[in-house]
Amino acid sequence: MKFCFDTKTFIECDLEPQKLAVVGVDESLTWNQFMQRVNTLEKDFKAKGLDKTGSPVMVYGHKSAQMLVAFYAMMKLEIPYIPLDKFYPKERLQKIAEISASEVVINTTADRIGITNTNEVQITGYEINFIQSTEIKASQEKSYDPLVYIIFTSGSTGEPKGVQISSEAVQSFTRWMSLDFGFSATDVFVNTAVLSFDLSVFEVMTFGKLGATLLLNSKEQTADPNLLIPRIEEFKGSIWVSTPSFAMIYARIKNETRLNSVHSFLFCGEVLPNDLAQKLKTNYPQARVLNTYGPTEATVATTLVEITPEIIEKHKSLPVGTSKRESQLLIEEGEIIIVGPNVSKGYTNNATLNAEKFITIDGQRAFKTGDHGHLEDGMLFFSGRNDDLVKLHGYRIELNEISSAINDLDYVLHGETIALKRNGSVKKIVSLVKTANNDVSSTQIKEDISNILPPYM
Ligand code: AMP
Repeated sequence: MKFCFDTKTFIECDLEPQKLAVVGVDESLTWNQFMQRVNTLEKDFKAKGLDKTGSPVMVYGHKSAQMLVAFYAMMKLEIPYIPLDKFYPKERLQKIAEISASEVVINTTADRIGITNTNEVQITGYEINFIQSTEIKASQEKSYDPLVYIIFTSGSTGEPKGVQISSEAVQSFTRWMSLDFGFSATDVFVNTAVLSFDLSVFEVMTFGKLGATLLLNSKEQTADPNLLIPRIEEFKGSIWVSTPSFAMIYARIKNETRLNSVHSFLFCGEVLPNDLAQKLKTNYPQARVLNTYGPTEATVATTLVEITPEIIEKHKSLPVGTSKRESQLLIEEGEIIIVGPNVSKGYTNNATLNAEKFITIDGQRAFKTGDHGHLEDGMLFFSGRNDDLVKLHGYRIELNEISSAINDLDYVLHGETIALKRNGSVKKIVSLVKTANNDVSSTQIKEDISNILPPYM
């Protein structure tokens, strides 16, 4: 079985009824069970009239198979979904609900969320429980290219911004994944990123496109090699997907036969250091190292290159590769512009920023990335940014969003946030704060902003 992203239906394609679709932290679902659960949720949504919503649906939880059921059910209903990890503080969830005008949240946890003015639908297995009910206002207008998902990233104005990804973009992305990466239905994707980050879209969409298996791993499991490695061994994980920072500790491990099933290390999101690629090639000689590049605004990634020993030898700063076949890269005054069907339709309800960042080139959507780069040997090389957006441990952070949260505290007179860098990469984020009274400790400030910002900020 696999999922067709053009028709948004399941397709029978093999005779292995016990093959796993999703291994979540809650339960494992075979392809048949996965399809049944998706279809049941779709039916229940229709029965309750929730499919009429003209707004995106939030899906809340942490690495559960149930979240995947919700994503695919929303895709079938052509309702855009907003993936939200449990680590977001309530105020941020409330803000996201307001920005997106969302009327429904699917809660896959046992706790209540309680966002005001939303219908909370709590689902566990086949059980569906409507906790809170407000009237569905909008009716759904069908678009020829409906949105599939909206991922919220850090925003420089102090508000998170929602990147809208359409069906055309997802189809283009999944075609590229199935044609150019050498992956197949027998693969098992090892997930590391939380499902509210665009990095996870690699495995969330591609396992469906190929009819492969998705192995989700909790925060605790990903933080501890003694938990993650046995899981990869047990489920024969074959494609490792992470940021380079995340792979650092694993790259150092020598003679780890329990990772022999991994045939590809797939990276995106930040600079892949030359010595990391080198260590992986030495310690896991059976595996390919794939570097990809791209912002959330262009559907996960736009370029790809396999990092070979020759490339490691020749380029101290590794390339990020060549463009996917349906898209195009332009470099204008050093800035990388991405053109093509994978480019987002813009940020949710943010006309000012959309006018600044999204343009049209030859009738196609284009995104001004703010990244700098150059072409060499037919490949793109990334050379940094010169704005407020930084990556720390693979997380995308607008420094001004932190400053803004600090400046909103009533005892703060002024706050500024800076990134401390070594060799071009961010090592630490520091905020300098002037308060009205000297009794306030930095612990107090951190505690207060943790009600507004996610932990990684
Ligand atoms: P995100 O939207 O979280 O995927 O972050 C996108 C940003 O991460 C890009 O605009 C780049 O600044 C950076 N980035 C993504 N991939 C790479 C890569 N392979 N090498 C260097 N930087 C990258």
